[in-house]
Amino acid sequence: MAPIIDTKAAAVHHDLPTPDPETPIRPRQPYKLSTLCVAVENPSMKDQYGSSSVPIYQSATFKGVGNEYDYSRSGNPTRSHLEHHIAKISSASRAFAVSSGMAALDVILRLLKPGDEVIAGDDLYGGTNRLLTFIRTHVGVTVHHVDTTDPNAVIPFIHPTKTAMVLLESPTNPLLKIADLALISKEVKERAPNAIVVVDNTMMSPYLQRPLEHGADIVYDSATKYLSGHHDLMAGMITCNRDDLAKQIAFTINSVGNALTPIDCFLLLRGVKTMAVRMDRQQTTSQLVATYLYSLGFKVHYPGLADHPGREIHQRISDGNGAVLSFETGDKELSEKIVGSTRLWGISVSFGCVNSLISMPCVMSHASIDPAIRAARGLPEDLIRLCVGIEDPSDLLDDLERALIDAGAIALSAQQNKYVRVPPAHAVLNKAVEQLAIGSSSSKGVVDQEWFVSAPGKVILFGEHAVVHGVTAIAASVDLRCYGLATPRNDGKLSTRFIDIDNFEAEWDIDSLPWSASAPLGHNERHPEDLDSHLIEAIQTGPLGNLDTDKSQARNAALAFLYMYIKLANVHRPSVHFAVRATLPVGAGLGSSASFSTCAATSLLLLSQRITLPSIPPPISADHPHLHHHGRHALEKHSAEEANRWAFIAEKILHGNPSGVDNSVAVFGGALTYNRPGFGKPSGMESIQGFGSLRFLLTNSKIPRNTKKLVAGVGLMKQEQPEYVGSILDAIENISAQAKRSLADSSEFGRDNLLRDLSVMINENHKHLVSLGVSHPSLETIREKTAAPPYNLSTKLTGAGGGGCAVTLIPDDFSEALMTDLLSELVECGFDPYLTSVGGSGLGILSPYPEHRNTNVTVNAPGQVTPPETPDETADRIDGGSFQSLFETKSLSELTGWANDLGKWLYV
Ligand code: PLP
Repeated sequence: MAPIIDTKAAAVHHDLPTPDPETPIRPRQPYKLSTLCVAVENPSMKDQYGSSSVPIYQSATFKGVGNEYDYSRSGNPTRSHLEHHIAKISSASRAFAVSSGMAALDVILRLLKPGDEVIAGDDLYGGTNRLLTFIRTHVGVTVHHVDTTDPNAVIPFIHPTKTAMVLLESPTNPLLKIADLALISKEVKERAPNAIVVVDNTMMSPYLQRPLEHGADIVYDSATKYLSGHHDLMAGMITCNRDDLAKQIAFTINSVGNALTPIDCFLLLRGVKTMAVRMDRQQTTSQLVATYLYSLGFKVHYPGLADHPGREIHQRISDGNGAVLSFETGDKELSEKIVGSTRLWGISVSFGCVNSLISMPCVMSHASIDPAIRAARGLPEDLIRLCVGIEDPSDLLDDLERALIDAGAIALSAQQNKYVRVPPAHAVLNKAVEQLAIGSSSSKGVVDQEWFVSAPGKVILFGEHAVVHGVTAIAASVDLRCYGLATPRNDGKLSTRFIDIDNFEAEWDIDSLPWSASAPLGHNERHPEDLDSHLIEAIQTGPLGNLDTDKSQARNAALAFLYMYIKLANVHRPSVHFAVRATLPVGAGLGSSASFSTCAATSLLLLSQRITLPSIPPPISADHPHLHHHGRHALEKHSAEEANRWAFIAEKILHGNPSGVDNSVAVFGGALTYNRPGFGKPSGMESIQGFGSLRFLLTNSKIPRNTKKLVAGVGLMKQEQPEYVGSILDAIENISAQAKRSLADSSEFGRDNLLRDLSVMINENHKHLVSLGVSHPSLETIREKTAAPPYNLSTKLTGAGGGGCAVTLIPDDFSEALMTDLLSELVECGFDPYLTSVGGSGLGILSPYPEHRNTNVTVNAPGQVTPPETPDETADRIDGGSFQSLFETKSLSELTGWANDLGKWLYV
């Protein structure tokens, strides 16, 4: 059969939306492809109502006899629209929509009969290989896999009569190899006139490449990819310009019944309309990403790079480079780490979506191919494939860079002041050393750095209780803090002292900890979402087994500390003493556990070098100024996030199912809004920036409240009086929303207005909490005392229960004398008042850099190597106290001032 190339039909489709009549003076040009993608016009199928969007004809059958449509397996109007549209943008006379890309190939392969020979590429999509293997073994068709990037390799396999089909992909996935579609089509036609050239065009889409224009007979696309663009449907499109082939294809589709459903046709049609803009954006970003990786020295496969071997051919046959690229790291495990460390790049098979994806073909999409065949076809095991989406390019680059840093693939070069690639040999060596250390029982890390950290508590300003029912809550940091000091011991022991929790002390031999109960976490590996219950159990019965059981708070704190120590310290097992102080009341609902968790997590992360401080000044990559680092001398954001993740793990150990608000405030400071998931609106946390810190009086009534009971009480009340409680919850939501606006806009609307607004809202919110039945006489006493003249202050209860605390807003002009009077009045009533500020800094680390240290304060300041010592009775006698003993014995009122005087604190 001789090919009948119906170029006229193709041209007709191409010009379709160009309006008539044309004037001879200024003839209209055919529209560009991006215009054609949007214009879903079919003059022969006018909609009776002129609908702008093609309707979904969700009907299996159509009434009447002898009409164009009778049964949807044979034809459906929505499908016809789609097929007409795809034909138009593919330079085709006919198009067929089927249920997937593989279904498209299946329909095409049914053109073959036993004894036929197929020539196919050697770097094909895995599913294509699978189906080819099937027809080879079940249909008696011979398949030759050859390197189609070299036309000379194809020619010897072309047989004048036996060769029935040549199956090509260009660029290939995932190695982006280029086949000269035009040249191969020509060679095949000359040598085997009856052979048909089939091209899988999925990697390009018709927007970037139309192989029918280069002599191919049939083109198919997995429309699951770029044509639809959103990973919300599976579809395949087949296009051709030959009536004889079209007839056979239509016959098969009607016979097997794999045509695309009307609703998917509709979705696909909608997707195609935005294909040009999506593709343009995705390609531009791909070029940036490829250039970035290339500049770091990775082997990158992308036809947009100057040294790509098929670049010249690709430029000739296509209109762009596409949005898939791949690169090699030199080490499979390193690649796995990189893939596991990204956040924005989703780990997923497939491509063509608006979201960016990352994968390792050998482990994922191509895992079905035998490793030996993968090796024979030159598919590197360490290959990482990137499928670029439409996110902001700087976010994508930033995320990738972080993953490369976290995985150890790149590191900061002090000389060049930028990130450079770590030779894979080193990465492998480091890994080997790490493994050696894991295996050795005598790998107690020698620590030469003392770390002093602190984190704030939190107060709920608005929305407590209501938050359980979907209302926004606002939490802010309070400047009452926990302090943690990790001092080297280097004697094979680990010890803790929680001075303000029952003055708890404990000491363990590091070797005696239950190491075997826990699978070690790799250096950059994240803790899974669920706690390791096996390890918890082992700690409870092992190192904590003999402890005083009535000290439950301290016991839990020790459990959280040991859990993180074992999980984080699998390589170096630092021998340290970890002491904690708290200037905020413990167990009063002010986030003391989260600030403890943050201090413990941060100290352990610093000791295990999972987070590090930036050097001075922090690095800014000259090549990528948009990848800047956040704030001078602060912990880099990803390190802060890591500290937050581990603080959350400790919170889980302490509380079971925490919201994550308290640890986020402890790490990031300031204020944030929080919405619980499951109420049909956006959930999660949002930080509120830009308001100066506010003075508050926190008063602990010292009447412990049963949080669970109080929360359950509100739940019951809501069940019994849904309307009444609903109106209270609505009112609280309004307060939270207004408070958020006032805090966020305070720089614009002035501090006086902010204070006035907050004062009104505090009173209102408290009134609502009283209506919900969660107040208490002692809290009302605090409220009355502070509201009475001459103080005239606004107070509300805070938190869902806990220790029973109240917060009182203190205006800037409130006099010292009045404050002294108020404080003594409250103390007289048996309450504990704390004057503090709200909305200040989060996690802080005392700078280890000598230039940041205040030299005239105390001998033996942290950061210097403390001689190996067990904290014992001699400590207090050294020059009035070692640094550690000073820390442990300072009065709470002196502690903050003393800590601040030591030197510069680096805050998140
Ligand atoms: N061809 C290529 C190049 C592909 O990448 C894929 C899917 O990943 C297919 C064909 C198969 O398409 P589908 O998954 O829609 O059946």
